[in-house]
Parts: sequence; structure tokens; C-alpha cells
Amino acid sequence: MPCGPGGADLDREVRAPGGTVRGGAGAEREREKAMRLSRLALYFAALPADLLCWAAVLAARVFIGGRLRLTWDGLWLVLPDTPSTIARWWPTWGGVTLGHGGLRVTGRRLRWHEGVHVEQFEGAMVMALWFACGQLAVAQAAGAEHGPVLALAVWTMGGALAYAAAVVVAVLRGEDAYLGNVLEEAAYAMEDKERADG
Ligand SMILES: [Zn+2]
Repeated sequence: MPCGPGGADLDREVRAPGGTVRGGAGAEREREKAMRLSRLALYFAALPADLLCWAAVLAARVFIGGRLRLTWDGLWLVLPDTPSTIARWWPTWGGVTLGHGGLRVTGRRLRWHEGVHVEQFEGAMVMALWFACGQLAVAQAAGAEHGPVLALAVWTMGGALAYAAAVVVAVLRGEDAYLGNVLEEAAYAMEDKERADG
């Protein structure tokens, strides 16, 4: 939603006495509020993996430095440049999504790229949650002892398992494990699209 002067939504905004908003802008705000609730549901679906992600981001902040940035896409450590320790073995590295957050170097290109990975992560975590619930139900029906622990492990690993599956599929199709996996193909395609759109 535009927030600067002259934005289309601001032009339509009508403020009643007392500061309440009516009309198109009010409806837009209601829609935005509903969207935020939806995003909170996605944060719930990703909670166990996100706790590990945020711990890793904060630890990286202590050891590497950089600027912490909190957005609806999560908690990010934004670095001015690729750390030399990483650049030594991966010169083109620009970031990594660990969940709702991660590490990335500054720049719009990486924001677009990692934004796609966040959405992919959310899809994987919703699927992992469903799978864990099913696993828990079966374990309890069978009287298994460690059902909840195993279900939590499956749920937590949802994003990692989805990425590993994409790598396996790429290798089995004879493509590059990184650039040929469907998750990276989608992220790089989004970069190209956003760049073309200006
Ligand atoms: Zn990527």
C-alpha cells in the first residue's frame, strides 16, 4: 500500500471529523488488517522452525555484525556485503532464508529473491503441520510412546525437507542441484520479472 504523498489510496481517503476513515481507504485498511491476521496464522504454522531461525539470526548478528530488520517477511540480518568467510567458498552468495527471516546482503534484488523463499517456506510448513497432525493421530491410535516428539520433529523440519526434496528432484532430472532446483528457479524468475517491471 502506498504511504507517500500522492499515492492513489491516499487520494481516495476521506477523513471524517474525529479522524475516522470512510470509503475506499477504510475498506482497504480492513482488508490489510485481515491480511495481517492471515500472516499471523502462517507464523503459527511455522513457529518451531521460526524459533530456530530467529535464534540463528540473532547469533549471526553477534558474530558477524550487520543491521537487524523486522518486516512481515520475518527477522533479517542485513549485511553491507558478503562476509569474507562465505565469499571465500561462495563468491556469489547473497543471502539465505532460514524461515521467517535469515541473512542477506543489502539490495532490492535479494529482497525479491528471499521473499519467494519465505513464501515457499510457509507452504512447506503448512504441509508439514498437516502431516505432523496426521502422524500424531496415528501414533496415539497405535499407542506409540514418542508420537508427540516425532510429530514435532517432522513439523520443525518442514522447510528443510522441502528444500532437500527440490535438490533431489533436480539431481535426478540431471539438473544443477542449486540453480536447477524448482525453488531457486522460481526465486530467480521473480528477480527477472521484478527487474523487467522496473
Ligand atoms: Zn535462493
